[in-house]
Amino acid sequence: MKPVDAHCHIDFDQFKDDREEVIERSKEELEFIVNAGSCVENNEQALKLQEKYPDFVVANLGLHPTYTEKFDQLEEVKEQIRDNDPVAVGEIGLDHHHITDEAVRDRQREVFREMLALAEDLEKPVVVHSRDAEREAVEIISEYDLPGVMLHCFNGSVELATDAVEKGFLIGVTTQVLYSNRVQNIVRDIDVDNLLLETDSPFLYRGDRNEPLNVAESAKKIAEIKELNEEEVIESTTGNARKLFRNG
Ligand SMILES: [Zn+2]
Repeated sequence: MKPVDAHCHIDFDQFKDDREEVIERSKEELEFIVNAGSCVENNEQALKLQEKYPDFVVANLGLHPTYTEKFDQLEEVKEQIRDNDPVAVGEIGLDHHHITDEAVRDRQREVFREMLALAEDLEKPVVVHSRDAEREAVEIISEYDLPGVMLHCFNGSVELATDAVEKGFLIGVTTQVLYSNRVQNIVRDIDVDNLLLETDSPFLYRGDRNEPLNVAESAKKIAEIKELNEEEVIESTTGNARKLFRNG
């Protein structure tokens, strides 16, 4: 079985010169990749990639919590989701790291709730960013009835990860696991059956540009931390990604 990159942004400009090569390279190593959308324009790019690589790229459509200058696109993004029927709604969420103004945070909460309500209505899983707002994000998500939740790039406490997993949420482990003690501790304490591999490309690779096939390195690292075979890590995480993003 091959690993999956459950969350990346291959539509971003960092890939404008070699996007095809990056995807072709990933195809050799991975089962599929999930490109999260961030706003109307990026959602369109994600859909184009999915159209071009139907067996390999899965598009999620959302409105990213740090794209505050795009929050006026909310109605348009909702329409895009209704029209294009993506497998999951994301990237959505809260970010209290970049956004410190309380009025803007309130607007972020509203946008997040609107997207969660839409996902509930359409019975779609959600992919949630929760930087420095992990506890609040988990509490808000819990108010909605959703078929699946990915806490993408989870950097909260081990306790919160444990609570989230009890609710049936999946924990996205990025390539931060290669160098972050916090993420390594989460991985140590959470059962592999609750994890997803992701890169969040082009970010989170020790300052270099990240790309999807680096999830293979994470699988190796997680196996080492949890004293499992790499194969077991890939089976669990790919199984979770299939359930969330490929209906089985
Ligand atoms: Zn992301």
